[in-house]
Amino acid sequence: MFWKRKKQAGNEHTVTIVSPPSNPTVLPDEIILEIFQPLRSEGRFLIKLSQVCRYFLCITEFWLYNSIQIDLERHPPIPRRALLRLSASLTVPRITRIVTVLHLYLANWLLCPQRIIANNLMEQDGDTTCRCDEIDDALGSALTALDQLESLRLYCNLCYDPRTSNRHRSLARLSSRQLKEFVFRCNCVILCKWNSSEIVTQDAINEVEAFSLEWTVRVKVPFHPRILQQNSKILKNITTLNYNRAPHCKVLVETRSITRLVVSFAGALAYRPEFDGLHDILSTSGRHLTHFYMGDVGNWLQRSLSLDISPYRTLEVLGVLLVPVWQADVILHAVEVLSPLKLLRTLEFLGQTERSPLPGDVLQTLTERHPQLQKVYLQFSVWRPQSAAVEVVWEREESDWTFRDIETIHWWDIVRKVGD
Ligand SMILES: [Zn+2]
Ligand SMILES: [Zn+2]
Repeated sequence: MFWKRKKQAGNEHTVTIVSPPSNPTVLPDEIILEIFQPLRSEGRFLIKLSQVCRYFLCITEFWLYNSIQIDLERHPPIPRRALLRLSASLTVPRITRIVTVLHLYLANWLLCPQRIIANNLMEQDGDTTCRCDEIDDALGSALTALDQLESLRLYCNLCYDPRTSNRHRSLARLSSRQLKEFVFRCNCVILCKWNSSEIVTQDAINEVEAFSLEWTVRVKVPFHPRILQQNSKILKNITTLNYNRAPHCKVLVETRSITRLVVSFAGALAYRPEFDGLHDILSTSGRHLTHFYMGDVGNWLQRSLSLDISPYRTLEVLGVLLVPVWQADVILHAVEVLSPLKLLRTLEFLGQTERSPLPGDVLQTLTERHPQLQKVYLQFSVWRPQSAAVEVVWEREESDWTFRDIETIHWWDIVRKVGD
């Protein structure tokens, strides 16, 4: 109604106000937008502003709904009724056409009384019934309505559904044809009632470039990787894959042009013997990785580089290098294995220690061996399955290295990031 998406050359989209309601102030629209720009990430303020008048509603709706990223673990608890209201609003056509990013991390201990750990985190209305099916239905209606969606990440932690489940059926009915990223991890379905291969056979998946699909480790959901071999259109543009135990991952690496790989198990970065076959797949498939994230990647490279360096020679972004003792000699020993990787731009360490600086001689050695290196992430001790606890980043300008504290960054974000 008020916001209109315009498609331009190169598939870029812009959003402009095409029929704003009358401006109640004497200031031009551009000035009003400039005034509120610094506050566009202040959700509560925007909600209040949107209630003032239709003009402000028009201004704030785009900022509120264009990119929705909710992590129930990190944000203050969101009552279930608020989540249901949000889901309902996403089906309103005026809102639907605004939303391009939807990232939801649903923590069941904040959503379902059957899984609740801390009573004070439960919504305040005293409702103690499980509403996980209702939440799934409401989210499902939103997902099937969002036809402009470009990035979808849904981490489901609804309560276990002991029945043959119809949950998440909407993921096979996405309406967007702009989808570039599809990330879904379910931790609730034990027996799936529907054929989850429908997720990848729908048209919405064809243009996806970054793909991650994980079901709960307790269950095998029917998904025949043969479908990927038979139909080369499916995920034909994929470059980024979350490689887990599911058989479709192996086939995707073999048959698609994957250059960015994250190896995970049950939602966490992993180095496990069951992934040992991956190197042979990379080698025989002729893959040349640019981004590679795995738990204890140094151990992996130690063995793999001696077998065949070609899948890794082009690596630009690499993590995480495990350092048991945060001392210069130990770190220097850990980075020796990286010597053949001359194109490295970004490197991440996990130090099993308290937060500590990166010794100067380590930076000097890294700079000499890896002339392209611009960024080094450090995280320490705490290992969180959902979010690698990146706390410090060192950045190089010319020959000078400086560091700063940063907010936690998920490894998937680092691998997805362009130019990092
Ligand atoms: Zn529940
Ligand atoms: Zn689920």
